[in-house]
Amino acid sequence: MRVAVLSDIHSNLPALEAVLEAVRPFDQLWVAGDIVGYGPHPDAVVERLRNLDAVAVQGNHDAAALGRIPVGTFNDMARAAVKWTARTMKPHNLDWLAEQPEIRVEGDYTLAHGSPRDPLWEYLFSIPAARLNLAAFETPYCIVGHTHHQMTFRDDHGRVEALLADDGSALELDERRSILNAGSVGQPRDGDPRACAMTVDTDTAAVEWRRIEYPIEETQAAIRELPLPGRLADRLELGV
Ligand code: ZN
Repeated sequence: MRVAVLSDIHSNLPALEAVLEAVRPFDQLWVAGDIVGYGPHPDAVVERLRNLDAVAVQGNHDAAALGRIPVGTFNDMARAAVKWTARTMKPHNLDWLAEQPEIRVEGDYTLAHGSPRDPLWEYLFSIPAARLNLAAFETPYCIVGHTHHQMTFRDDHGRVEALLADDGSALELDERRSILNAGSVGQPRDGDPRACAMTVDTDTAAVEWRRIEYPIEETQAAIRELPLPGRLADRLELGV
């Protein structure tokens, strides 16, 4: 089965559409959280995912939009966007978000937004954090997002290594436990403004990462027409 794996879409419909087009055909769509927040299209993004029968987990921005967690730790831009998102979203789309768990298992893969031991909050940037989390899920592999950086942490016989990924990077998964990060569709932060995607072939355990151009100016224009902080539009073209 060929699975398209997306994360941190952040209400950016043009980015989502470009990514879906680029990774077609796929049999299933997995989403590692932060479906909403920051961007201008929360309802349209959720409706697109629902129509594709996406398998998703909640991220911290989703949970905040649902009122499940306080926004006190969010920065000003994130907080303003979460509040607007919660106000604007249609009840049936919020219901769909609320139905998504914080952790789910799909075959050999555990999905969590931040990390398997702390799905809403922990950022997996470091080897020590990765080492603790490589022991915190039952399946051979785990898929996360949250950092908006495409990469893998792999337990190579006790030595944890970090493998950076970029457009065209590929990895054959094997007996070594691994945590894969799909990167961000809707708000890349590694200096490359192109949208991120990952694909997994669950039969061969082959993983690929992609970067995909999309009409950033469409998302920026939509943000600027709404009561959302303008810096959320500015940052998209910089990939920060
Ligand atoms: Zn995010």
